[in-house]
Amino acid sequence: MLISIVVPCYNEEAVIDRFHEHLTRELRAIDHDCEFVYVDDGSKDRTLSLLKNLAETDPRVRYVSFSRNFGKEAAMLAGLRYASGDAVVIMDADLQHPPELVKRMVELHAQGHDQVIAKRTRDGDRVTRVLTARAYYRLINRFVDVELVDGVGDFRLLSRRAVDAVLGLTEYNRFSKGLFAWVGFPSVTFEYENAVREEGRSKWTFGQLLNYGADGLISFNNKPLRAAVYLGLLLLSVAALYAAWIVGSAAVNGVDTPGYVTLLVVITALAGVQMVMVGVIGEYIGRIYYEVKRRPHFLVQSTNAVPAAAPLKDQ
Ligand code: UDP
Ligand code: MG
Repeated sequence: MLISIVVPCYNEEAVIDRFHEHLTRELRAIDHDCEFVYVDDGSKDRTLSLLKNLAETDPRVRYVSFSRNFGKEAAMLAGLRYASGDAVVIMDADLQHPPELVKRMVELHAQGHDQVIAKRTRDGDRVTRVLTARAYYRLINRFVDVELVDGVGDFRLLSRRAVDAVLGLTEYNRFSKGLFAWVGFPSVTFEYENAVREEGRSKWTFGQLLNYGADGLISFNNKPLRAAVYLGLLLLSVAALYAAWIVGSAAVNGVDTPGYVTLLVVITALAGVQMVMVGVIGEYIGRIYYEVKRRPHFLVQSTNAVPAAAPLKDQ
């Protein structure tokens, strides 16, 4: 059996050599052939030349280099396309995903699981982070039809048929957490402790996290639109009751014209709700716009590999 390890790398010159060394050391304990698919996501540092060096010293190393930074989702997609293994492990280059777990993943895969999912514990995270994550997952699971689990990310092993299924989803807006969950197949989850990033920096800013969260909510189905309909109906009923009450009291007490403040509050509140809902619709239209353009997810500028999976429609 051939195991492919897919590693998206963006400005990882500080760790990449150490990562590869650590990983190859751990993989000696596995009796399967391995290949490494490093995807250089348009790094601005020496990542690509380090990868080329690795490929010279280790013939199992494949690298795929993008023409610019296309983001981790695109890098993972490229990795899956170029991987030829019977099972594929996706992991980060920054050693936050411990290479020693790969052995365990391969063993669990051999027991018949198509997806072996590593779930990070939140031990050591700041309390605010834990609480926001919990609230977010409670909210999002109400909206999306696949089950998203806190702590479950892209660190996982996929069988060949799971990889092919993921590659069959050609949408432009890729939210991998959701795509992997959507694919299904027999899966098993195990827990691990996330290591602290030692070198380099996390690429996430607060704004990006917020956008990622919104993507998860919106990119997966149209329940937010349904929610907008219900909210509209609710407001309509409240307005109808209020109107009946006003008319009734005018009939009983005669016409009076107070309520400047009430009027202003109602108008601004409703305008706000409408703007939000128009925004939600706009988000969906924006996504449709991207989908219909059918642009490739990434452009490759140099590689020593050939894509194993037949690209569907693009690239
Ligand atoms: N990454 C990438 N493209 C990007 C940003 C990140 O390929 O535009 C890679 C990065 O090199 C790392 C992985 O994705 O291997 C996770 O990135 P990071 O450590 O910044 O995210 P975090 O661990 O904080 O979620
Ligand atoms: Mg990281």
